[in-house]
This record gives sequence, structure tokens and C-alpha cells, in this order.
Amino acid sequence: MNLNMQMKPKALGRISTKGLTQEEIQDIKFMKAAITQARKAYVLGEVPIGCVIVYEGKIIGRGYNRRNTDKTTLAHAEITAIKRAGKVIGDWRLEGCKLYVTLEPCQMCAGAIVQARIPEVIMAAENPKAGCAGSVLDILNNPGFNHQVQVKRGVLKDECAKMLKEFFVELRARNKAEKELKSSQGLDEN
Ligand SMILES: [Zn+2]
Repeated sequence: MNLNMQMKPKALGRISTKGLTQEEIQDIKFMKAAITQARKAYVLGEVPIGCVIVYEGKIIGRGYNRRNTDKTTLAHAEITAIKRAGKVIGDWRLEGCKLYVTLEPCQMCAGAIVQARIPEVIMAAENPKAGCAGSVLDILNNPGFNHQVQVKRGVLKDECAKMLKEFFVELRARNKAEKELKSSQGLDEN
């Protein structure tokens, strides 16, 4: 295995929109845009998570996971997209916006979504170990907060889950090859 080789996500298969409503077709279109963001993370060797924020039918914020690249846990896809969208709207309140994300948001991002007053989140894959749209906690829809978020689940979830799975398979193979290379170099030196 060439260790300098870039990690490469597989292309999305054809997605049929036959018999779907206009809204469902729009959701697929914007989730595909979020997947395009996730693929940027994949290429960097980052867990592939992507996000876009849509206002009046247009994307106004994009983001992808850059946690290792930027050396900060704040570099999650949703946080970056929220920052960008706020600049475009000219307000920290993102009322009237829809947020599309390839994986169920964590506690930090779900908190930011509530704080930004985003009315609707459309998500793909669920995250049973860290998701805060109902998996571990339900931050997005907690009656105790002053804002609740409408959540739509499962849009292109198979595609997003598959991409995550392939990423971890590739990452494990890469880590194993690196380890083997290091130990063989260690033997050469002796
Ligand atoms: Zn997050």
C-alpha cells in the first residue's frame, strides 16, 4: 500500500427520485451537497461528515469535519456551516434556515443549532454513540429549552452510513500498513 496515497471516497451511486415529492427531491439535492462536503473531509483522512445550510432554496453555509487538520474539536461540519451562514445572513439567528447534515449532530453541534434558532434539521445517518437528536440525548427537541428543532431523519442515510463504514475500513487498513512499515524499518536499522 502506498502510504502517501490520498484517501479516496467512492462515488455516489445513482439515486432515483422517481415518484418523490418536490420537497423530497429538494432534500436529496441538498443532502448530496452535504455529502460533497463530507467527501472533502474523507480526502483529508478526517471522519467524513458534511453539512450545508439552506435559506430560501440556496446554500448559504457549508462545512466539513476538520477536527484533526485544524487541531480543534470546534471544527465540526455544522459549526463551520453555522459560522458561514451567519456571515451571509448578517445575524447569529438563522431563522428560516434548514440545516442538512450527513450524521446525527453531537451535543456541541446540537447545542449550536438550538442557540442559532435553526427551525429544521434534515439528517442522514444516526449516531448511536454520540448523537444528540434522540440517540444519546435529544437536545434538538427538548421542551425545557426556549427553541425546539423539527427533525427529519434518514435522507440518504444508507449512502452516508456506507461512506462512514468504508472510511473506517480504509483507515484501519492504512494504520495497519503504517505500523507494519514502521516495524520493518525498525528491523532494518538493527
Ligand atoms: Zn458536532
